[in-house]
Amino acid sequence: MSKGRDVPALVAGARAGDARSVARLISMVEDGDPRLREVAAALAPSAGTAQIVGLTGSPGVGKSTTTNELVRALRVAGHRVGVLAVDPSSPFTGGAILGDRIRMQEHTTDPGVYIRSMSSRGQLGGLAAATPQAVRVLEGAGCDIVLIETVGVGQAEVEIASLADTTLVLLAPGMGDAIQAVKAGILEIADVFVVNKADRPGADATYRDIQGMLGLGERGPGDWRPQVVRATAVKNEGIDDVLAAIAKHRAWLDESGRLRAAHEHRAAVEVEAIALGTLRARMGNLRDGTGLSALAARVADGTTDPYSAAEALLAELGL
Ligand code: GDP
Repeated sequence: MSKGRDVPALVAGARAGDARSVARLISMVEDGDPRLREVAAALAPSAGTAQIVGLTGSPGVGKSTTTNELVRALRVAGHRVGVLAVDPSSPFTGGAILGDRIRMQEHTTDPGVYIRSMSSRGQLGGLAAATPQAVRVLEGAGCDIVLIETVGVGQAEVEIASLADTTLVLLAPGMGDAIQAVKAGILEIADVFVVNKADRPGADATYRDIQGMLGLGERGPGDWRPQVVRATAVKNEGIDDVLAAIAKHRAWLDESGRLRAAHEHRAAVEVEAIALGTLRARMGNLRDGTGLSALAARVADGTTDPYSAAEALLAELGL
């Protein structure tokens, strides 16, 4: 795939800020390229150099509009920014859907911004493994802030959003979002709530709902109290408040020692996803041969039990 360029050249290119090298490396991550090990090893020293901000919320709530405005403000403040638009709900078409997000186009010619949509085509361990790897590519390219935008608020999105150091949950008035957020477990992962579309009727009620729900949550003395911010992304209003809330959370992460914990959580999810993916692939290889299919036949016949069969399968894998 590299068309003559080997991994060290691509990594060097990414480090020098070459957008095409960055794009190629992220494609390798998506595709589960066999040389990913080499890429990961080369990029390992860049880990943890960017602040990772997750952005999630129901479709139509204003995520891409907000991301676009955040990118603009971060660029003005001199940051180098990466944006990963991740669609866990449609692994095969995610790239295509998120790929042509028109509102992002104003940034495509800016060399200080990398925007990329991601699906998990061939990656062992899916997006849970691919997202941190893509983040590391962006860190290697010198991004000091990476925004991870997900499409919705399902379990998969919550998992991806929880990979961030700071998680933003967007809500909008009149979408029943506050209720949905509770259902999806979003309340637990949100560090900052953004009540977007503050120009719409009902925004104050949504704001109060969230504040009310936060009041019910149990929190220890040193714990973070999620911030609630109002914004009207289409008019670029409230974006500075969102950035201030992100900065405040970052300061709390530093002071409380939780930044390290966030990094270790991300690494743990990544390592576990790779390990499970590898295991699944190896078991898949057994499926066609004598291994799993023979054991399954015995379980189906009632000549052995599933626990013994699982043990035998793991033993075949040397575990
Ligand atoms: P996403 O699906 O969450 O990424 O949402 P989009 O950013 O694509 O926005 C969905 C629609 O809401 C678009 O038509 C936006 O122009 C509109 N929108 C975004 N932010 C605001 C806002 O603050 N106020 C109003 N009235 N509309 C907004």
